[in-house]
Amino acid sequence: MKKIYEVIIVGAGPVGCYLGALLRKANVDVALIDERKTIGEPVQCAGIITPRVFSQFHIPKEDIVQQAITGAHITAPDGTTVCIGDSTTRAYSIDRYAFDQYLASEVESLGATIIKKQKVIKVQKQQQMISIQTNKQHIVSAPLIIGADGPYSIIRSMFGFPQPLEIVKGIGAEIQNVEIDPHLVKIYVGKAIAPGFFAWVIPTNKKGTTARIGLCVQSPQKAKPYFEGFC
Ligand SMILES: Cc1cc2nc3c(=O)[nH]c(=O)nc-3n(C[C@H](O)[C@H](O)[C@H](O)COP(=O)(O)OP(=O)(O)OC[C@H]3O[C@@H](n4cnc5c(N)ncnc54)[C@H](O)[C@@H]3O)c2cc1C
Repeated sequence: MKKIYEVIIVGAGPVGCYLGALLRKANVDVALIDERKTIGEPVQCAGIITPRVFSQFHIPKEDIVQQAITGAHITAPDGTTVCIGDSTTRAYSIDRYAFDQYLASEVESLGATIIKKQKVIKVQKQQQMISIQTNKQHIVSAPLIIGADGPYSIIRSMFGFPQPLEIVKGIGAEIQNVEIDPHLVKIYVGKAIAPGFFAWVIPTNKKGTTARIGLCVQSPQKAKPYFEGFC
């Protein structure tokens, strides 16, 4: 394995892979490092995205889009429900694993290396180079590194960029044998369900028989009872 690159991207999620592909198209020698064994796994996303993602970033919908979403049922704490939307497609529910895998295979097919199963634990600036050390004692260097390593970014903290103002804690599941409108997401708000955030039900097939459900709570320390209720 090579040790020196022009650019190293820490994190092979959608942002890292997309940026890596742009750099490869500009003929930059780039490597990505990710702690995951399989890019995109485990899925940590509700999987709703705007249709613009596909046109703007030239991503094929096939094998990624699960269902077109035209609106939402929003339920207030007192049980009142409002329905918004019309027949226009406002969003897609997607197979997020397939989405991440597509972007990873794109960057690899353009000639970038994805170094997997290696967690970056240390970053050091040495003259014009930055060296990156992983938990497997692997060291790679580049004059430029990019942190695309998500909400707990080690690159951000090592270079003194500010922490996120807020981190919410969430739980989710894929469920079957439901009967829901296949075009509408359901959103539930209120302190009793998901204080500071909301809960969701997202159709994932055309029949409305499968869904992705989840909720997030604003205060991670207080999440346990809500997660137990969810289970
Ligand atoms: C519960 C939940 C629901 C969400 N729902 C939606 C939604 O419906 N629609 C939407 O658009 N967005 C949603 N998001 C947000 C979306 O998932 C993120 O915006 C998106 O994943 C950001 O992409 P990214 O490439 O920046 O980071 P990530 O996808 O987080 O990728 C970062 C990568 O960096 C790697 N990494 C991290 N640290 C290290 C390290 N030290 N060494 C090596 N590798 C490392 C990780 O393994 C990971 O692969 C949701 C997020 C959560 C948590």
